[in-house]
Amino acid sequence: MNHTRDDNNLPPEDIKSMTLEELAQEVAAMGLPPFRAKQIYAWIQQRGAESFGKMTDLSASLRAALAEKFEIFPCAIEKRLVSEYNETVKYLFKLRDGEMIEAVLMKYKYGHTLCVSSQAGCKMGCAFCASARCGFARNLTASEMLGQIHAAQKDRQIRVSHVVLMGMGEPLDNFENVNRFLELVSFDPGLNIGMRNISLSTCGLVPQIYELMEKKLQLTLSVSLHAPNDEIRSRLMPVNRRYPVDTLLKACRDYVKATGRRISFEYIMISGVNDSGDCAKELAAKLKGMLCHVNLIPANEFTDGGFKRSGGARVEAFSAVLSGKGINVTLRRSLGGDIDAACGQLRKRN
Ligand code: SAH
Repeated sequence: MNHTRDDNNLPPEDIKSMTLEELAQEVAAMGLPPFRAKQIYAWIQQRGAESFGKMTDLSASLRAALAEKFEIFPCAIEKRLVSEYNETVKYLFKLRDGEMIEAVLMKYKYGHTLCVSSQAGCKMGCAFCASARCGFARNLTASEMLGQIHAAQKDRQIRVSHVVLMGMGEPLDNFENVNRFLELVSFDPGLNIGMRNISLSTCGLVPQIYELMEKKLQLTLSVSLHAPNDEIRSRLMPVNRRYPVDTLLKACRDYVKATGRRISFEYIMISGVNDSGDCAKELAAKLKGMLCHVNLIPANEFTDGGFKRSGGARVEAFSAVLSGKGINVTLRRSLGGDIDAACGQLRKRN
């Protein structure tokens, strides 16, 4: 990946958003030997240092010089909610300008997954999603996405092994910063989380799906489909008016062909809206022959959402139609419902 320092206006002081190469240039310009860049990079990216003062193997004058020139953007824990049923943790983080974002840490047999936010708020306006209700504030920098992982790791004394870009925001609407985040999060030395352990979820921004495709990353692309046709999907997701179902599915087929990676479709089940047998049949027909997987998620209700989740029997019946037609389907286990940490419930409350 080739970045330039001013893609998406990277703030010059934002040292945690820099690649090792970029940091090496800065360090050289300060007249320091190259090994210093690696040392500083490891402090920031691997150990999640929150200030230059913590970098005990650097001289006091160097620490002061760094602090003069750069800033380690904060991602401070403002609030932490721990589910009483499992070890799911929801964090509310405060950023340098006071913006609040959320992340959710989930424990699975295979490790710890952090659901990371990519924007403060969201522009997409999906009818079923709480994040849409608070409007859009701004894009997150790569450092602020990394900061969520560093903060959770430090707080629980664990290592995050998997990342899902499924928190607040639309990652493909913050493409440059998300790309930079992907490069940094998978880099060694750094958090070193492999691309195969990363999922990126999109509501279906078609041009950016093609842009991502060009990068041929080994991550999992998740597409929030939620309906088999334009009539239902446009009612739920305004983005569908710009990129209708068939256009989106064509992009998905192209993506699979170019990358060889299976796409994961998310489908939230809303009672009486998108959960009929006919919807299941229509969905199966549209996905026929594609290397994909459907993840059925009973919709999580939130106070003023105005819709009901589908009952267990409906979900089972829907799932049976899909698997009967040869489509891979799973039911998503919901974690963290008791702490408003489930999908679509992330919402900033200042
Ligand atoms: N903007 C991206 C990622 C953030 S949303 C996207 O749209 O995919 C992460 C997932 O949570 C998406 O699949 C989204 O549709 C889903 N979601 C949103 N509100 C939900 C709700 N009330 N119940 C269940 N899932 C929800």
